Amino acid sequence: MDLRDTPDEASFRQEIRDFIAENLPDASRRRGARRFEDDDREWSRSLGEAGYAGLTWPKEYGGSGAPYSHQGIFLEELARADAPSHLGVIGIGMAGPTIMAWGSDEQKERYLSKILTADEIWCQGFSEPDAGSDLAAARTRIEDEGDHFLVNGQKVWSSFAHIADFCILVGQGVPDQPRYKNLTYVIADMHAPGVEVRPLVQITGHPEFNEIFFSDVQVPKENLLGEIGGGWQVAMTTLLHERGTLGFALAATLDGAVRKLIALAKDLEVDDPILLDRIAREWIEVQALRYTNYRALTTLQKTGIPGPEGSASKLVWSENNQRLTKLALEVLGSHAQLTDGGGYADGYWQYQQLRSRGNTIEAGTSEILRNIIAERVLGLPRSR
Ligand SMILES: Cc1cc2nc3c(=O)[nH]c(=O)nc-3n(C[C@H](O)[C@H](O)[C@H](O)COP(=O)(O)OP(=O)(O)OC[C@H]3O[C@@H](n4cnc5c(N)ncnc54)[C@H](O)[C@@H]3O)c2cc1C
Repeated sequence: MDLRDTPDEASFRQEIRDFIAENLPDASRRRGARRFEDDDREWSRSLGEAGYAGLTWPKEYGGSGAPYSHQGIFLEELARADAPSHLGVIGIGMAGPTIMAWGSDEQKERYLSKILTADEIWCQGFSEPDAGSDLAAARTRIEDEGDHFLVNGQKVWSSFAHIADFCILVGQGVPDQPRYKNLTYVIADMHAPGVEVRPLVQITGHPEFNEIFFSDVQVPKENLLGEIGGGWQVAMTTLLHERGTLGFALAATLDGAVRKLIALAKDLEVDDPILLDRIAREWIEVQALRYTNYRALTTLQKTGIPGPEGSASKLVWSENNQRLTKLALEVLGSHAQLTDGGGYADGYWQYQQLRSRGNTIEAGTSEILRNIIAERVLGLPRSR
């Protein structure tokens, strides 16, 4: 099997490199952190206008109808250039594909293209203080009031909610029904009366995610996705896409991180054989992850639906990334104690190590992913 770029892919890769060189604001490079500066919105808009956001989305929804291999190349090149991702991570990766699968023509027309141009930002309101891994335990009420839904409850850990215009929201629609038949899934307007967002500061010092409080929030009936009580099936579409398409972005970022680590070790003339051995291991691991993703890509190209293998990529990436960023701090040695200086003390690796702690929790914890791999990929007996 020849895994090198075809002539068409090589020319697309060059096109992306040229685009990044011409359009990426200098300030966005190597920031590594999601800080939502104004230039991030501009950068996201420029990606949308050039047709690089939603590359694989059908043209009728504002996408480019490109093959998944182009999506992989695009993500690899963004990571190589240290460019920030599109601000519409949740819109492009989760809300958009869910609306395409379950939405009405009016919903597709209303929401999809504005996701790509970053005119409207989305957040995901799934987790609650007592319902994370167990989404079916969500307590937020989405009550049918005849001509609208009335939403009351609290969501937590909602990334992007402080800049979001819309939320894909799951809650109790028919509480008297058994688990998995009781959820309703709606699109909530984050600017509606009764929606309050309170940012939560992470260990990195950045408020990347938020609490959302809904108090008597009216959601129009036409914002329903799927059926009342059928929210579980809709949510599964969202989660499959969350992990499925995420794999490429993650492997590409990890590949970039390994390259930076190797460059750092060369710069610092590291000659400790144990450290060199551990760096080599990280390089090998990222190659394995890349080839796993190529296999998943083949499935995706054939079926158009991400398979459960996405869970394996996310699991491996998150654990590798934590190990790798810790190793980078060891390579930095005494420089690792400084974060506000220039050169080695610019805080880059320190930020990455702190941020990596959340990697094994977000988008499914490692334990939940191991359960999914055991049951759905390996076909082992269910754990409960
Ligand atoms: C950086 C970050 C961003 C996030 N962004 C969002 C977002 O945008 N929107 C959103 O809705 N949520 C978001 N989350 C929340 C995330 O989805 C949840 O934290 C996650 O699903 C785990 O839920 P929990 O925190 O309630 O932990 P719990 O589900 O209470 O789990 C606690 C512990 O028990 C383990 N556990 C639970 N069930 C099982 C089981 N069946 N078998 C084995 N072990 C089990 C877990 O692995 C974990 O170690 C984000 C989280 C982070 C860290």
